Amino acid sequence: MTSAAVTGRFAPSPSGRMHLGNAFSALLAWLSVRSAQGQMILRQEDLDPVRCRRDYADQLEQDLLWLGLDWDEGGSAGGDFYYQSCRREIYEHCLNRLREQGLVYPCFCTRGQLHAANAPHASDGTLLYAGTCRDLTREQQEAKALLRRPALRARVPEKECFFIDGLQGAQSVHLARDCGDFILRRSDGVHAYQLAVVADDGLMGVTQVVRGRDLLSSTPWQLWLQEQLGFAHPEYYHVPLLSAADGRRLSKRDGDLDLAALRASGVSPEAIVGRLACWAGLIDRPEPLSPRELIPLFDWQRVKKEDIPVK
Ligand code: GLU
Repeated sequence: MTSAAVTGRFAPSPSGRMHLGNAFSALLAWLSVRSAQGQMILRQEDLDPVRCRRDYADQLEQDLLWLGLDWDEGGSAGGDFYYQSCRREIYEHCLNRLREQGLVYPCFCTRGQLHAANAPHASDGTLLYAGTCRDLTREQQEAKALLRRPALRARVPEKECFFIDGLQGAQSVHLARDCGDFILRRSDGVHAYQLAVVADDGLMGVTQVVRGRDLLSSTPWQLWLQEQLGFAHPEYYHVPLLSAADGRRLSKRDGDLDLAALRASGVSPEAIVGRLACWAGLIDRPEPLSPRELIPLFDWQRVKKEDIPVK
């Protein structure tokens, strides 16, 4: 927990090498915090034991530092506290607080049933849960539990959620109708991202969240969870995604834009940072610059809102 006015975080998922898209969000998160003399935390979101690896986490640290993006708290120097895989008891405790409020129910739906019965979420194609297991009786739950270990889902209210994103502007969605009940713990016992991120941001004193626009649709759930768990709301800035010319979001498949490949080809960190800053709208031409040199030029008013074609 820090005492700075602004506390931000890097929250990478160490499931592969860092990509230019991750570096883009990380640079803006860093500039926003550093231009406000704030504190930065590095938290590794390695909840998924199958996809995430400690050596990727270590490599992400090296890549951030190589780019000139530092932090004050967390990462490997901070120890287990900053790895989500080591924080399961904390998430279980938060889950129990939600249970006590009657906000959690077991969900026995299989992946196939979910796809068959649920409409895609309007904004990003994730599924809007139809509520199949919401009102099962205790007897029904017990019978189903003999056959299948359930996931745990949050019961969201019929309520409008309104918030102002620092970059994307005013947002208004209906929690039940537009977002739906969401997973808190998977059937394999792994806690879900929405729960972990809210617990961590709350307990680590994070006041500012800068991340990719793909997570804008998760924000109403997170704001609601913060209220149920008694955490203050951080401010949010959802930054554009880097995309290919055809509008497709860049992914790990675009291996030529991964930081390892760029480093190996001899590109300097300043050249990358300058290019990212130009894409963001902070400078007119992609000249080599360090993150520190960009601090005086940083202004959210200048940062682009729409996804950025880079290929
Ligand atoms: N770990 C998430 C990711 O790498 C980011 C989560 C967040 O910033 O809230 O996409």
